[in-house]
Amino acid sequence: MNTMTFCDYLRSLRIDGDFVELAAKAGEVTREVREAVRERAALNQWKVLEALQSAGLMEGHFFPTTGYGLGDMGREVLDEAVAKIFRAEAGCMRWQIASGTHALTAALFGTLAPGKSMLSITGAPYDTMLPVIGNADKAPGTLAYWGVGYRELPLREDGHIDIGGIADALKADVGLVYLQRSRGYTWRPSLCVKELAEAIAEVRRHAPEVTVMVDNCYGEMVELSEPTEFGADIVGGSLIKNLGGAFAPCGGYLAGKKQVIERALERVIAPGVGVEEGPTLGYNRVLAQGLFMSPNIIGAALEGAVWSAWILEQLGFKVSPRWDEPRTDIIQAICLESTERQIAFCRGIQKAGAVDHSAMPEPVVQPGYRDPIIMAGGTFIQGSSIELSADGPLRPPYACYLQGGMSFAHVQLGLMLALQEMRSQDLL
Ligand SMILES: *Cc1c(COP(=O)(O)O)cnc(C)c1O
Repeated sequence: MNTMTFCDYLRSLRIDGDFVELAAKAGEVTREVREAVRERAALNQWKVLEALQSAGLMEGHFFPTTGYGLGDMGREVLDEAVAKIFRAEAGCMRWQIASGTHALTAALFGTLAPGKSMLSITGAPYDTMLPVIGNADKAPGTLAYWGVGYRELPLREDGHIDIGGIADALKADVGLVYLQRSRGYTWRPSLCVKELAEAIAEVRRHAPEVTVMVDNCYGEMVELSEPTEFGADIVGGSLIKNLGGAFAPCGGYLAGKKQVIERALERVIAPGVGVEEGPTLGYNRVLAQGLFMSPNIIGAALEGAVWSAWILEQLGFKVSPRWDEPRTDIIQAICLESTERQIAFCRGIQKAGAVDHSAMPEPVVQPGYRDPIIMAGGTFIQGSSIELSADGPLRPPYACYLQGGMSFAHVQLGLMLALQEMRSQDLL
């Protein structure tokens, strides 16, 4: 009989004794918080199941359509399921949407008209949205080029929304108010649905007609409700993050008011055919499976984040959120305080990859980003960050963002290898 324990296994990998001890202790200390995570995952699992059942998903919906994809019933059923999950009028999930940035860009271009402005009330948007917005030189293709203005209301010193400043920021030309739920690559708290809801209510008090959009990346189904239940007109994100459940090979989704979703889909495809076109080529099954699995995978990732945060705190690192703080996304930010540690941490995570575990991550400037970024992702799907991954731009405060994991055990191993890698370079 094999009586090997988790700790024995870690020791067999030559993980140092103090780390192994922390790993064992973390399992106990974080148990209750992780149980609460599993409970929310169960509630979200039932929500998704109900959505798929009430949309009427059947085996026949998995057959491939080609060409224009007109009358693709599986696509329509999945769109309806997305709408139900977000308690919204409409939704869509498409492999034709290349990324979260693409989904959000389609929503911005679909909504905003020349002469109008976008107002971000959560400070600067995520790095890849900046080239979309454009700036003073109005580069072709950007919102600026098409005569759309941009303003932002910075977050308060403590990283929360300046609710009192919203009224003044809502100038007459504002056509869209933009909020970003997750922290992106900035050291600020991710914003829970309750805080987003309060900000949206304040926007509505002063500008009832304005379109409210939320960059929902990494936030989907971490809490029990979504921003669309509190007045957001459109939310969007990537299918190689939460909602794809690590099954979707690519794609993006949107959910919200019917007209706003239709306008966005017209930017993805073309006016007149936005909702009708989009062959699914046989991908409906894998998208449906990913959606079905996503609450469970998100739960595993969150358990891993809680467990990792506790250990990192014991080692003296500043982490956000703290291990027992409420969470609204799957991101665990870790302040590593040096480039060397960022690189070592990511190299350790890479070693835990099921794919490319022997690859050596190097910092590079990725398309859409300004600073070099170090990324670890031994993932089945290229760049998937619902799978175990870690990354961080090489700029102060030299943080790594740890996220994803298709199983809790995988995240545990990843963190141990990351710590050991830092230790082996005398960085810990
Ligand atoms: C990942 C992310 C995006 C962009 O998504 P991609 O799929 O990488 O294009 C936008 N906003 C936030 C907050 C993100 O985390």
